Amino acid sequence: MAEPEVYDVAVIGCGPAGLSAALNAAVRRKKVVLFGGEFCVSKINRSPQVDNFLGRPGVTGEALHREFVAHVREFDIPMINKRVINVFPDEDGLFGLAIKDRIHRARTVILTVGMAVTRTLEGEEGLIGRGVGYCATCDGPLFQGKTVAIIDYTREGIEEAVYMAGFCARVYYVCMHTEPPRFEQENIELLKGVKPVRILGADGTVSALALDQQTVEVDGVFIFREAFPPQDLVPGLELEGNHIKVSRGMETNIPGMFAAGDCTGKPYQLGKSVGEGQVAALNAVAYLDSAGK
Ligand SMILES: Cc1cc2nc3c(=O)[nH]c(=O)nc-3n(C[C@H](O)[C@H](O)[C@H](O)COP(=O)(O)OP(=O)(O)OC[C@H]3O[C@@H](n4cnc5c(N)ncnc54)[C@H](O)[C@@H]3O)c2cc1C
Repeated sequence: MAEPEVYDVAVIGCGPAGLSAALNAAVRRKKVVLFGGEFCVSKINRSPQVDNFLGRPGVTGEALHREFVAHVREFDIPMINKRVINVFPDEDGLFGLAIKDRIHRARTVILTVGMAVTRTLEGEEGLIGRGVGYCATCDGPLFQGKTVAIIDYTREGIEEAVYMAGFCARVYYVCMHTEPPRFEQENIELLKGVKPVRILGADGTVSALALDQQTVEVDGVFIFREAFPPQDLVPGLELEGNHIKVSRGMETNIPGMFAAGDCTGKPYQLGKSVGEGQVAALNAVAYLDSAGK
C-alpha cells in the first residue's frame, strides 16, 4: 500500500478556531488537512443571533459558520469529516492521527476541539479499555457474540450500531440526540427518553449499564460525544484545570503541537477562537520553517 501523504499542518476540529487555523496556514502555502466531527458542526451553529462578531451584527451562528466553511473551501483544503481518535508520535518524528479506518500523518498539529460539555458517567473512567470504548469499529471484534450498549450524543453511533449488530448478540442503542433512527436489524434495541447514569463492572470489566429507568446487562459500552477530554486524545498533553495549557504563541507542552479556541480556556467566544486559530497557525508555520521542514 502507498505511504500516506504527510501534511504540514493537521487541524483537529472545524469550529471557528479550526477553520481560522486552517485558512491561515493555507494562506502561508502549507499543506493543510482539517478534521471535523462527523457533521462538521460547531457550538456557534446553535446561536440564533451573534451580536459581538466585528462587522456582522445580528448574524445567525449557522450563517456565520457556513461562511467560514465556504471561505476555507476556496483554498482546496481537504476536510475530512471524521473524528480523530488518537494522536501519537510516530517513528519518523511526525504525528500520527488515527481516525476510524486509517492513520494520517502530519508535521505539526493544531488542536481546536472545543470544550466537552458532557460529564463522564460514573464508573466510565475506571473501565476504559475494559469494556468502555469510544470507537466501536476499532474494538468491535472483541465483542463477537456479546451484548453491547452504544450511547450516542452525536448520531455517529448509528453507523457503529449497525456495524456491531453484524456480529454481536444484541446491541442497545441509547439515543441521546433528537433524531432517533430506525433500525432494520432485529438485534438492535432502541432506547430513547432515558438517561445513562452509571457503568457497572464486575471482575474489572463492564457488566451492566444503569439507566434512570432500567439496567441492562452488557459486556461493552461505546460512547459517542461531541468532544472528548483532550488528554484522552493526546496522551501526555499538559492541562491547566479543564483546559489545554498553552503559551502566548498557542504552543502546548508537546513540540510541534498547538491549541486554540475554547479548549485553551475562557472566554468561550468567537473572536478569541478565530484569533487564537490564527496565532496557532502562524506559529506552526514558523516552527516548520525554523526546522527547515
Ligand atoms: C448557544 C450558543 C451561543 C453562542 N453565542 C455566541 C455569541 O453570540 N458570540 C460569541 O462570541 N460566542 C458565542 N458562543 C460561543 C462560541 O460558539 C464558541 O466560543 C466557539 O464556537 C468556539 O469555537 P472552537 O472552534 O474553539 O470550538 P467549537 O465551536 O466547539 O468547535 C470544536 C469542533 O471540534 C470538533 N471536534 C472535537 N473533538 C474532535 C475530534 N477528536 N476529532 C475531530 N473533530 C473534533 C467538534 O465536532 C467541533 O466541530 C455561543 C455558544 C453557544 C453554545
